[in-house]
Amino acid sequence: MDHSRDSVKYVVVTGGVLSGLGKGISTSSIGVLLKSKGLRVCPIKIDPYLNVDAGTMNPYQHGEVFVLDDGSEVDLDLGNYERFLDVNLTGDHNITTGKVYRAVIEKERRGDFLGKTVQIIPHITDEIKALLRGVGEREKADLVLIEVGGTVGDIEGMPFLEALRELGQDVGRGSMLFVHTTLVPIMGAVGEQKTKPTQQSVRELRAVGIQPKAIIARGERTLEPDIKQKIAFFCDLPVEGVISAPDVSTIYEVPILFDGQGLTEYVVRELGLEPKGEDLEAWKDFIDRLKNPEKDVEIALVGKYTHLKDSYISHIEAFHHASAAARAHVKLRWVESLDLERKGVKLLDGVDGILVPGGFGDRGIEGKIAATRYAAEQGIPFQGVCLGFQLATVGFARAALGLEGANSSEFSPKTPHPVVDLLPEQRSVKSMGATMRLGAHEILLDPSSKTAKMYGATTIHERHRHRYEINPAYIEKLEAAGLRYVGRSDDGRRMEVLELRGHPYFVASQFHPELRSRPLRPSPIHLGLVRAAAA
Ligand code: GLN
Repeated sequence: MDHSRDSVKYVVVTGGVLSGLGKGISTSSIGVLLKSKGLRVCPIKIDPYLNVDAGTMNPYQHGEVFVLDDGSEVDLDLGNYERFLDVNLTGDHNITTGKVYRAVIEKERRGDFLGKTVQIIPHITDEIKALLRGVGEREKADLVLIEVGGTVGDIEGMPFLEALRELGQDVGRGSMLFVHTTLVPIMGAVGEQKTKPTQQSVRELRAVGIQPKAIIARGERTLEPDIKQKIAFFCDLPVEGVISAPDVSTIYEVPILFDGQGLTEYVVRELGLEPKGEDLEAWKDFIDRLKNPEKDVEIALVGKYTHLKDSYISHIEAFHHASAAARAHVKLRWVESLDLERKGVKLLDGVDGILVPGGFGDRGIEGKIAATRYAAEQGIPFQGVCLGFQLATVGFARAALGLEGANSSEFSPKTPHPVVDLLPEQRSVKSMGATMRLGAHEILLDPSSKTAKMYGATTIHERHRHRYEINPAYIEKLEAAGLRYVGRSDDGRRMEVLELRGHPYFVASQFHPELRSRPLRPSPIHLGLVRAAAA
């Protein structure tokens, strides 16, 4: 029996030389190419840190916490996979050291190992292999695409590389293909492309028993043909396996760049995959629209981590998707909410739209509230998300209802007017002890609302990550004064979307529409903002 024929195939992407080479984008791009051949691709991100998940991680260090439909809080690379591959993933697609060790230690406590000494090899490596195979099997994938976080040579990554080497042995060499991403720096007056870091990094990989079949070489410029030859020769792979990844204007171009160098055909051939049609036309059309806008709009993003743009990556991408659909280039003006508090709303002068995104903690809150007021009063297109939705309510309660000192009890536990309060089932606990409401929930939209028109539906599903919500005690008064809560949870108790009556575009949501935005299916609320800003 030809075993390799009907079993799942694996592509594994590792990183060398240094971090930040765009390994996640390379992995996602390979996914797009294989999906374009009609194959069922199942992406998995390995994070060799000890955190069980990304829920407790600081966005300063790791960028945005991405939330999936099932409520899992995961690494932001999963967001790239979802966007590039247009799939909805679950927590099974993110494997961390913490998750693996927790599972093995639980088994050990239960006595599952029958008194044996429990060790990294084979117990941890077996657990890793079982997790990887399990996801592929459950999802009936043709191809499991695995990205190993970190850089080859890191101590944390070792058990994962060993597990992957073993998995290659288990499934057969022809069923697994390793891709290594490296850097080819340019040195000296003549601008010579240097291959030594790549050679050394591949040597490091071979030292753990892994031979890459493809190398993705990042660098400022396209690799010279003789440099490709040299890498192929010294790293022992065919020259078609050496792919040049120079800087491009948009990440969405990377699949096209790889495909143009024959990577798709190469991987299909090497793994003996059987393509089933489909193509890249829609993707190319998206890039074409993205790169040829008809106008420009400037949108202020009022946030706390504005110097660390990875904290807002899903918004940035949602605006790219909206840009292509609206044919309007979005220029973001990064406004630090604390600056806004100190220097005032003049920092928002001349913008075509304002976004107040989600956030935690009280720093810069008054600046964000000021931004919502400015948008409401000046008729500037506005979008609020999660915290932005809550603060739009706070600002309105103060200004339109005259509720002085109105606030969220998150920031002012003793406020006389807690227009935003802990979720009712959690009022008895302290805020940090409260559990977060996470993941996709159903939302019912008022058929007469802008939001229902933009979604083209009155029942939608969007993702959440919050502890606080609009206090139902204030809804009647707020609505009477013109703030309409046009989206509610299916039991009608939770406020999910607001629109300001008489305003050209003032739409805010308790959920995060940016998390489900896709190149060819942009978040309707971001798209609405861009269209209103362009009008
Ligand atoms: N801090 C707010 C809450 O917990 C908002 C959360 C968010 O914006 N993601 O409800």
